[in-house]
Parts: sequence; C-alpha cells; structure tokens
Amino acid sequence: MKIPSYIGRSADEIRRENVSFDSVGYLFRAVSWLDMADRESNWPALLYSCIEGRYGIEYLLFEELVIGTGARLSRPDYEKCLREPTKLSKLIDRLIPDYTKLQQFTSAVISLAPTLPPHIQWKPKELKKDWGRLSEYLHWCGHRLDSAENSEWKCSAIADVRAVLIPIWETITRGHSMCLHPSDMTPEIQQVWEDFKNGKVDVETAKFRMNLLKPLLTAKYAQQGAAHRLGGTLRAPSRLSAGDSPTHMTFTTTVREDVLVGCGRHCCLCHKFCGLKIELHHIVQKADGGDDSFDNCIPLCFDCHADMRSYDHKHPKGTKYTPAELKRHRDNWYSKVSSSPGSTYNNQSLELDRAVFLAIIKLLPYSKLIRFLEQHDFGASFSPGIFEELDKVVRVSDDPAHEFIDSDLEGMRAKLVDDIAKFAEYLSTHTWRTPSGNQSVPPEWEDQQHERFLEVTKALNALSTALANDYRTLFREARKRLSVNPDMG
Ligand SMILES: [Zn+2]
Repeated sequence: MKIPSYIGRSADEIRRENVSFDSVGYLFRAVSWLDMADRESNWPALLYSCIEGRYGIEYLLFEELVIGTGARLSRPDYEKCLREPTKLSKLIDRLIPDYTKLQQFTSAVISLAPTLPPHIQWKPKELKKDWGRLSEYLHWCGHRLDSAENSEWKCSAIADVRAVLIPIWETITRGHSMCLHPSDMTPEIQQVWEDFKNGKVDVETAKFRMNLLKPLLTAKYAQQGAAHRLGGTLRAPSRLSAGDSPTHMTFTTTVREDVLVGCGRHCCLCHKFCGLKIELHHIVQKADGGDDSFDNCIPLCFDCHADMRSYDHKHPKGTKYTPAELKRHRDNWYSKVSSSPGSTYNNQSLELDRAVFLAIIKLLPYSKLIRFLEQHDFGASFSPGIFEELDKVVRVSDDPAHEFIDSDLEGMRAKLVDDIAKFAEYLSTHTWRTPSGNQSVPPEWEDQQHERFLEVTKALNALSTALANDYRTLFREARKRLSVNPDMG
C-alpha cells in the first residue's frame, strides 16, 4: 500500500493533486499545509491546515459514527448538524455507544479470522477534543494578529497543530477501522450482535458463541472470503482516496490474489502491464452498496483508475462506464490471460498475431517515425506531419482487430499506444507553429524563460525516447514469439 507523502508539497500541488472531499482527502491537505507552514514559516498555511483538519475530523466522525454503524441519518439532517455544533455534538454522543460497541464486536470477530488486516478503534471523544483544539487557531483576531508576528508563539502554535494532526494522519493511513455492518451480518451473527449491543452478553461470551457458529458459517460460506465466512461483510466507511487509500485493502488477501493472477497484473481497460503499479477498483462503489467480492473487483492501472475516480456525476464529461461494461472488459481480459498462447501458439492464433504485428509495423515503420523520435532533440523545430502519424496510430488502436491474442504482446502494444498518446498530447500543448511552417517549442523561451525551455525540451525528449523503447521491446519480443522477421525499414 503506497501512502502519498505530504512533505514538501507546494501550494499548487496541495490544491490540485489528490484532491478528494472526504476525511482522507481533507486530512491529507491539512498535514500538507502544516508541513508548508513549518517549512516556510507561512502563517496562512497554518490556518488552512486548521480549516482542512477540522473538516477532516468532521467527515471522519460522520463516516465512522453514521456510515460505519449503519445509523439512519438523512443528508439534510446531517447538513443541519454541520451548521450547528451543539446539534452535531448531541448527535455524536447519541451514536457513540453503538459505535464503541460495534468496534468491540468487530474486533472480536476479527480476532477469530487472523488473516484480516489490523483494526483501528477511533475514540470519538478524543476526536471532538482535537476538533476544538484546531478551532482555537481559527477564532483569532486583534491581539492574535500581534501574536502571529511573534515567532516563539508561531512555533508553539505549529507544534500544537502538529500534535493534533499527525497522530490522526498516521492512524488513518496505518490500518482499517471498518466495522462489521449490522445489515450485512448473517442472521446468526446478528443475533449475537443484538445481545451484545443490549448488554445481555459480554465480549468473551459473544466470542464464544461466534466460535461455536464458525463451522456452520464456514460451511455456508465456503466459497467466499474470510469476512463472509464470519458472517458479514466488513465495511470501511466509503473514503475516496488520497492516492492509494486504505479502502483498497478491503478486498481480502484471497480476492486480491485471485484478481491479480486473473489479470496477469495488466490493466483490464487499457491492457498495459502494470507490475506493482496496479490498483483494485470497486465496480459498484461501496457507498452504493458494492461489496468486496471477486466479482465486484476490477484491476486497473493508475491512469485508468484516476479517470474512473475523477468522473464527476454533477458535471459529467465523456461517457461513464457502466458496471456491466466494466465486468465485460474485465472478463474478456481474464479469458485472454488464461488462454494466452505464449510459447505454445497453435497455427491459427499464431497467424492472427503475426497479422497484427505486421499491421503495426506497416502503420509505424521504424525508418519513418521511430528513428526520428529516437534521434531528434526537441530543442529544435520539426515537421508538423508528425502529429498525423501519431494520430493514425492512436485512432486505430481501439479496434479489437489490432489487439494481440497473446497477453504479453498485447500489454506491450498497449504501453506503446499509451506512451504515443501521452507524447502526442504533450507535444500538441507545448509546441507551436513557427512562421516558416515548422513546429517548435518557442525558440525565444531559450533566452527569456530558460528554465521552462529546458523543462519542456527535456520532457519531450524523455517521452519520445520512452515510446521508441516501447517500440523496440515490442519488435524484439514479437519477432521472437511469432517467428517473423519483418524489415525494420
Ligand atoms: Zn489502464
């Protein structure tokens, strides 16, 4: 699990990158602002940190106490609470007893299934206090302005906010506070839960009773994951993620393994080989009732996953994937991986893959484009005809007739097409037509904006080298597997 670092981020990065509006998102920005406040003695950054931190805590309480316990609370009621701290406070107090019990109960269940990840129990009352400590820095005026000029006071303020935020951040990124959700419990477990909640039995008795139920439940749920075997779905509050979020870990180890083997660690949408850079996406989001099953999981590369997350329901741009569509893409890819010929091609699939390969070579002859991209320094101008060549490749790449049957070759092809698309996009947004009809990074930048000039040419050279390398890798591997020897041209 990769947790993004909050150290050394610029204001621009904090506002634009990994932005999500849930507890993890708010807290990630809060610790990032705090780090900036400390690093640059930046007073406004400390205030932003307190604002974001407070939101983060509010959302955390909401996710834990309301979503986590399955309490019934309408959105309008919740929003009313947000504007009235006393109401919110009362609501929280009302929910705390159930929450604490549910956490204890979940811990007891988890202790019977040692393969599950560590379980965190938040303390809502402590979180409320932390919320209050951050608020102090937001109600300053007059004399506080004077204190803001006082560096000693600033230091102690930063230390104070740090003492609140860092432990919360470290906890939220360390483990899982998911609860066994009452509505997901099997009737047998639900009975134990009711008795425990109403004080009829203590933790040890509850554990004992669940242990007795284990053989029954195991038989009933033999085909499913560990959480199901114990009588319910473990549910984490639906957190959008700051980069990789703890919610991804809600798939059990068994499901994760099955999924990663099924896809061969390729993205099921763009077919790129991802290696470690792969994420598991819930096809139906947990907030919409999706579960942690093999069937509800699709492995995606970072890019495709980011597209999936950034789709904004209120302002839809493009066409969203439906769950059925995602499942079909995934299942097609799984079956390609499982039936991938590799070294044991039969004649028919060999012929088909040869045809795909030759078509790619025809579309992208080495001598015409790739060699140029390998050798050209993008500090100098070039012919705009390149765009057409690149565009041709990207356009035909969606046609399934251009896909390899062999999943390794298909992964290499997908990476090549992806890198071509990235290069073409960067090229079209960072170069302009010159009066002589060529295309170029503005030459005047070299004197006037030297750093920018260097940065852009360096990026263009790196992107073009990367795609030329993809081409060589694919060429080499396809020649070996398919026993063809086309002219590199
Ligand atoms: Zn992808």
